[in-house]
Amino acid sequence: MPRILLTLLALFTLLASGCYQIQMKRQARESNIVVLDIGHYYHPERGGQGARTPNAQYGVIEETDFWYRYAGYMKQEIEAAGYQCIICNRGDMPTDKKLAAAAKKAGVHHVKSPVPTGVYRSKHHPRRMAVGMLSTNYALDQKPAAVIFLHHNSNSAKWLVCNKGAFYCNEVGIPLATTMAKVMNEQLMNHGLPNNNQPCGIVVRDNGRLGGGDWLNACNESYVPALITEITYLSNPEHARFLSKHDNAVKFSRTLGKGVVEYLKSR
Ligand SMILES: [Zn+2]
Repeated sequence: MPRILLTLLALFTLLASGCYQIQMKRQARESNIVVLDIGHYYHPERGGQGARTPNAQYGVIEETDFWYRYAGYMKQEIEAAGYQCIICNRGDMPTDKKLAAAAKKAGVHHVKSPVPTGVYRSKHHPRRMAVGMLSTNYALDQKPAAVIFLHHNSNSAKWLVCNKGAFYCNEVGIPLATTMAKVMNEQLMNHGLPNNNQPCGIVVRDNGRLGGGDWLNACNESYVPALITEITYLSNPEHARFLSKHDNAVKFSRTLGKGVVEYLKSR
């Protein structure tokens, strides 16, 4: 008799977890909410804490600063197509007045992070840990269709032409990354944004805490497509020259938004 009960209990647990997975998959597929995370935080005295151009020779860009200024254009593109878009950042409101105004205009939500550089555990998948995980917790709380971590790459403290940028995505995010790369290739890469004829790369990343792997893993375990934008290098003089012009930066952000919309429509 106890054996029968145990078997029934095991069967019930299996069914319940199967149902939960189906429910999570449906939730992501039917969601109309996209979360954009500005990947680095703003220090009240030292400013943006992301990668930056090596010097002022080809333009001055820092990641946090860039995305505070331009994520709003990506959001506009997504919302114009009828979806909801939320921008978040794990730092506090920038002390720089112009950046603060841009943050207000874009409606950036500041995720409460006691130590912005601290390693935190995923609320939804506790074995996942990473710096910046609090943003992922917030993003998954929104029950999103997709999460995009906004970054630029940099591979050197000196100027160096490198065009091997990519969207780093989770496994369930491959269709999202493929569509965004297609739109980026058709509209910007080698069409305005100099890239030595290299197309936009796609890399599936699941290597734990390294390079945001556990943000992607936590999203993957909730069946939420997610990717990190690392297709441009701030240490590449051609990319820096391009992105430091306002109109180009707007176009770059809007093109990312267009890629997200094309993916959402194709689901
Ligand atoms: Zn970054």
